[in-house]
Amino acid sequence: MERLVCHDCQKEYPLASSHFRCTCGGLLDFQADWPPVDPIAAGDGEGLWRFRAALPFGGAEDRALVASVSLGEGGTPLLPAGGAEPQLWLKADYYMPTLSFKDRGAVMLALAAKKFAFREIAIDSSGNAACALAAYAARAGLTCHVFVPASASAAKLRQIRAHGAVLHAISGNRSDVAAAAMAAVTENNWYYASHVYNPLFYQGTKTYFWEILAQCAQRGVQPPQVYILPVGNGTLLLGAYQAFHELIHWGLLERFPHVVAVQAAACAPLYAAWRQGASVPLQITAEETVAEGIAIAAPPRGRQILAALREMNGEMVVVEDDAILAARADLAAHGIYVEKTSAANYAAYRQLLACRPEFAKSRVVLPLCGAGIKSD
Ligand SMILES: [Zn+2]
Repeated sequence: MERLVCHDCQKEYPLASSHFRCTCGGLLDFQADWPPVDPIAAGDGEGLWRFRAALPFGGAEDRALVASVSLGEGGTPLLPAGGAEPQLWLKADYYMPTLSFKDRGAVMLALAAKKFAFREIAIDSSGNAACALAAYAARAGLTCHVFVPASASAAKLRQIRAHGAVLHAISGNRSDVAAAAMAAVTENNWYYASHVYNPLFYQGTKTYFWEILAQCAQRGVQPPQVYILPVGNGTLLLGAYQAFHELIHWGLLERFPHVVAVQAAACAPLYAAWRQGASVPLQITAEETVAEGIAIAAPPRGRQILAALREMNGEMVVVEDDAILAARADLAAHGIYVEKTSAANYAAYRQLLACRPEFAKSRVVLPLCGAGIKSD
């Protein structure tokens, strides 16, 4: 049975629950008892729904529901970088319905809210997650409340507004905005469709990695050895952990691939912790960075991200803003226009190549998470 389970005390909650934290304060994980699904052989369905046998709302009873909420998410191209980097592949999620990988998780949250008869949902974000959720809420006929910092730029809010979401501008930092959203959710019994707190989101982002394995198999190439992932709130990294952990649990994979987590040097609480061997993010003074999508000074799932990276035998690096901008310009010069945050991992790849030339022999995948027209 599909359920929510406290990460700290293992207390269980039904999927239909409006709880977004355990009564002990712990964060919730998602658990299910699906039979093994080999991503390479999975086939029934379009886009990410080809993995429906191991996805929430993937059963026959929810087919009509999924068809009414889906915007055609998933099934994005895996492009060879070509040129001087024959071992490098780019997974182009900037092709998604709202132009970022967040659609993979947003569809799960909109489905949950609709299935469990919530009329109104809320999220705190001023970026791609809010754009994605606003779109899927509109598609599902739900009222979407988006809590944003009062300082959020008008450009960022245009798409959210266009989808008919209700904007709540909150004074203070990201934590204050999250607190305001949680208070409103509790008071009004809305569904908290948070890309950070709601673990259904990671069920969507895990499909990113299963698609890559399936695409490599279709082309007759070996699966990637290294994934370089930008990390702020960890929505992609925790999806990677989920994707590979399930395959290992089912006996379909021997060990985790190598994961390199990337933070912007100006805002790197997880990197600071990683370097010291700490298990929780360090308190930092965040500075401005062009990689706004991963500029999270106090990630709520920080402890979980660090533990997952350790279990995956991963590593962590930081990149400077000028390297990110140079990497973005170079991708654009080769026909690939992504937002600044999305270029952080290409910058990290080049940095790794420069200090470890043997890295050029590894088969590497970079996710390209968001479209270039989304950032200034
Ligand atoms: Zn608990």
